[in-house]
Amino acid sequence: MERSFSPIRSVLVANRGEIAARIFRTCRRLGIRTVAVYSDADASAHHVSQADAAVRIGPPAARDSYLDMDAILLAARAEAVDAIHPGYGFLSENADFARRCGEAGFVFIGPSADIVRRMGSKIEAKRIAETAGVPTVPGYHGDDQSPETLRAAASSIGYPVLIKASAGGGGRGMRRVDGPAGFDAALKDAQAEAHAAFGDSSVLIEKLVQNPRHIEVQLFGDRRGNLVHLFERDCSVQRNNQKLLEETPAPHLDDAVREALYEASLRLGRAIGYDSAGTVEFIMDAHEQAPYFLEMNTRLQVEHPVTELVTGLDLVEWQIIAASGGALPLAQDEIRSRGHAIEARITAERADLGFQPATGTFLRIVPPAGTRFDAGVVTGSVVGPHYDSLLAKVIAHGSDRAGAVERLATAIESTSLLGLPTIQPFLIDALRHPVFTAGSATTGFIAQAFEGGWTPDQESVALLRAVAAYLSLAPERDARAEGSNPWHRPTGYRVMGAAHPASIAVDVADEYGTAAVEVRVSRGSVWAIVDGVEIDLGTVSLLERSHVGERPFDHSRGEDGIAVASNGLSIVAHPRLRIEAAGDASAEHDVGSGNVIVAPLPGVVTAIFVEPGQPVSKGDAVAQMEAMKLVHTLTAQADGVVAAIHASAGATVVSGAAILDITSGELREVA
Ligand code: ADP
Ligand code: ADP
Ligand code: MG
Repeated sequence: MERSFSPIRSVLVANRGEIAARIFRTCRRLGIRTVAVYSDADASAHHVSQADAAVRIGPPAARDSYLDMDAILLAARAEAVDAIHPGYGFLSENADFARRCGEAGFVFIGPSADIVRRMGSKIEAKRIAETAGVPTVPGYHGDDQSPETLRAAASSIGYPVLIKASAGGGGRGMRRVDGPAGFDAALKDAQAEAHAAFGDSSVLIEKLVQNPRHIEVQLFGDRRGNLVHLFERDCSVQRNNQKLLEETPAPHLDDAVREALYEASLRLGRAIGYDSAGTVEFIMDAHEQAPYFLEMNTRLQVEHPVTELVTGLDLVEWQIIAASGGALPLAQDEIRSRGHAIEARITAERADLGFQPATGTFLRIVPPAGTRFDAGVVTGSVVGPHYDSLLAKVIAHGSDRAGAVERLATAIESTSLLGLPTIQPFLIDALRHPVFTAGSATTGFIAQAFEGGWTPDQESVALLRAVAAYLSLAPERDARAEGSNPWHRPTGYRVMGAAHPASIAVDVADEYGTAAVEVRVSRGSVWAIVDGVEIDLGTVSLLERSHVGERPFDHSRGEDGIAVASNGLSIVAHPRLRIEAAGDASAEHDVGSGNVIVAPLPGVVTAIFVEPGQPVSKGDAVAQMEAMKLVHTLTAQADGVVAAIHASAGATVVSGAAILDITSGELREVA
C-alpha cells in the first residue's frame, strides 16, 4: 500500500465554476501553480481568471469540452502539470479518466481508478457494502436485467419502489413506481434515460424509504492505509433529488446511530482500501433512526465546506496530500467538530416555476459580508444554458444550530445578485420555515412546506417594482456623473425637481409579472402606489446601494432593464411610461395580446412543429426549445392560424425572441 511521496507543484483543474475557483484558492495558498481549462462559453469566466494559466478545450457543449478527456490531457501535457483535479460532476467519477491520467503520467487527485470504477456502479457498491456488513436499502441489485426479473423483484420488495440507474448521479435516472401497473413504462423510461445520460442502461430497484432523511459521512483515506471519518452531514432539503441545504451535525440524530454511521462508513472504506476524499451516503426514515447505505461518491462533495467549517480543515489540501502519497495530517482522535455549519446552494433557477433553470448576465454582485461565499460568478458573468445551474454557495458557522441557520439566512439576505433570477429568496424562506428550524426536514420538505409551490413575498416584489419605476424616471446619465456636478449628484436626485405636485404612471414588467405603478411627487416627498399600497421612496437615491426607509436595496442598469434587489430578492424590471393615447387606450399593449410565441428562456430552438398558414388549436405544441439541459415545449393557448415563423430548428435565440406568430393565441409553456 505504501507509495513514494512526490510533491505536487502544479495542478490542472478539469472543471469550471465555483469548484474550480475553490480548488485554485487552496493551490495558491500552498504555492502550487494552477491551470484552468475552459470551453468557448467560458472564455471570460471567473474560474479562468483565478488560475496562473488557462487552456481552451473546445466548444460550449460539455461533451466536447469538460467531458473531452483527450482535450483535457492535451492541455495538461501542454502545461506540463504534475496533477489533475477533477472537481465534482463532469469526469470526477469517471474511472477511465482516472486511469488515463495515471497512464499519461499525471497524478489524479482522487481515489485510484479501480475504486472509482467499483463505486461508480450503484449495483456493485451495494454488494460491497453488504459484504462489509453495512445495511443497504432493501432492493434488487442483481445482474439479471430482464424486465420479468426486475418486475418480480419490485413485487417482492413491495411497492412503492424506486428504479435507479446503476451509473446514475446528480439525481438523474430515477423513477418512482407506486404499483405493478406503472412498472413496465417506468422501467423503459429509466433505462432509456440511464443509457442516454450515462451510456449504461443497468438499473437497480430499491424500496422507497418513507419520510426520508439524507445523511452522509465524509471519509478520508491516504495511500499509506490511513482512513478517518470527518463526521456527518444532513442533506435532506432537496429538489429533484438534488441537495439545496446541507448541514453538520445532523439534527436529532441519536448518538448511537451517529457512531454506527461512522463505523459502517469506515468498514466500507477499509473494505475497498479507500485512499482519498469520499462520501458514504445513507437514507433513513425520520421515524426509525435506522440508516441504510445508498451509494458512495468517490470525489469531493459540493457540500464539503460545512465539514471544513466545523473541523477547521481544508479538504482540498488533504486531497492533494493524499494524492501525492503523503500521510493524512491528523489521526481520528485529533479531529474535532466544533459548533454547527450550514450551506445553501444558490442556483440560477426559478423557485416559483418548479426550479426551472434561468440564464442571463450578472449586472452586479454584492457578496455577503463576513460569511464564506464560494462563487463561480462575479459582476459581468454570463450564465448560459450549457452547464449546471449552481452559481455559488453561502456557508455559515455558529456555536449552535439556531445561530448558524439564522446567520446563513441573514447572509443570503445581504447578498445581491442582480441581473437574473436565483433561488435566494426561496432559500431564505426555507431556512426560516418552522419545520426546518425545528430540524425536522425530510426530502419531502419543499413539497410539504410550500404546498402549491413557493412564491415570492408580494409586498417585497411590489417594493422592488416601485423602486424600479422611480429609477426609470431618472436621466440615465446622472448615475454615471456622480460627484461631477451638483445637479447630477445621485443622492440629490428627485423626479422633476418636484417643483409642482406630479403623478407619473409607469408599467413595470419583470420575471414575476406586471404591475401598474404610480409615482407621485410633491414638494419634499416621493412615493409610489403599487397595487393600491403606498410606498415612501423619500430615501431612495441613484447610488448603487440605497434605501427605502431602513431597508437597503441595490440596483444596476442593464441594456435590458433595471435590476433591483433587496433582502435577497431581485427582479429585472422593464419599466415603461404609460401614456394614455386618446381614443384608444389599448393600442400600445399589442405585444401583450399573445399573438407572438416568444422564447421563455435563451436557448436553442430544437423543432418547429407547424408551417405558415397552418391552423392550430389551443394546446397544440408549436415549437420546442432546449435550454439548460431541459426541453421546453411551446404551445398555443388559443385557436388560430400560424401567420409567420421567425426562427428555424437549430437557431440560438435570446430570451423574449419571437419564434412564431399566430393570428390569435397565447404562449404557454409546458416543461
Ligand atoms: P453532491 O452529492 O456532491 O452534492 P450532487 O449529486 O449534487 O453532488 O452533484 C454535484 C454536481 O455534479 C452537480 O452539478 C451534478 O449535476 C453533477 N453530477 C453528479 N453526478 C454526476 C454524474 N454521474 N454525471 C454527471 N453529472 C453529475
Ligand atoms: P445520486 O447518485 O443521483 O445522488 P442517490 O442514490 O444518492 O443518487 O439518491 C439521490 C436522492 O434520491 C437521495 O438523497 C434521496 O433524496 C432520494 N432517494 C434515493 N434512494 C431513495 C430511496 N430508496 N427512497 C427514498 N428516496 C431515495
Ligand atoms: Mg447521491
